[in-house]
Amino acid sequence: MNRRTIVAANWKMNGNLNLVEEMSERLNQVQLDDNVDVIVCPSFLYLAAMAAKLAHQNIYLGAQNVNAQPSGAFTGEVSTSMLQDFPVKYVILGHSERRSVFQESSESVAQKVRSVLNAGLTPILCIGESAQQRTAEQTESVLAEQLQPVIDEIGIEKFNEVVIAYEPVWAIGTGKTASPEMAQATHQFIRQFLASNNTDIADKVPLLYGGSVNAQNCEALFAQPDIDGGLLGGASLKVDEFSQICSTVKGS
Ligand code: PEP
Repeated sequence: MNRRTIVAANWKMNGNLNLVEEMSERLNQVQLDDNVDVIVCPSFLYLAAMAAKLAHQNIYLGAQNVNAQPSGAFTGEVSTSMLQDFPVKYVILGHSERRSVFQESSESVAQKVRSVLNAGLTPILCIGESAQQRTAEQTESVLAEQLQPVIDEIGIEKFNEVVIAYEPVWAIGTGKTASPEMAQATHQFIRQFLASNNTDIADKVPLLYGGSVNAQNCEALFAQPDIDGGLLGGASLKVDEFSQICSTVKGS
């Protein structure tokens, strides 16, 4: 199965209008491999500016979160219909920082996945274990517990329209990347878990790796058979490094 390779940028609460300008100017000039898509997810506030500046066929815009409710008295929140006013195609959901800092449960993440799909947007569903859970050999059960509520909420067939990002929490922003072999073994587990529900769907779902990906380690990671690209934090804020990663990544 040839899945497209995806390089996604999660700016988190970083960046400014200057970075929007510099990054979009550089990305507009990048030559991407035929089978490669790039997704840039700045803060909500910069979506409009980024949309106005990005002009590349295979570079898309994403948000970092959304509220599951359609509208209402939810001060400070953003709805899917608001995202639809911009050329946003993807929404990162269930990032480990949302799960830990903002106490999002897998069930609430599942509801957001449903809302995002209903709005015709593509969720980038983040899952991953903590260092403690890996040491206790709970990685697979933790991933299954994060995936199952989403399967229950939307049904396995809908995973046709979902991107999954496996991000071990211990590797996010720490410089401790999973080795390509360790990441591949976990991605293979995720694909097998999906396959136990539906083999065709499991074959099609793009599985991204996230956790201290940079220009030095991305090629070895993305070359693994079940790794279809990456979700990048720190490296996605560096114009030279991120554009270099995008232009060197090979599509499958
Ligand atoms: C992330 O925030 O999703 C991430 C993977 O960050 P970093 O690349 O900095 O580890």
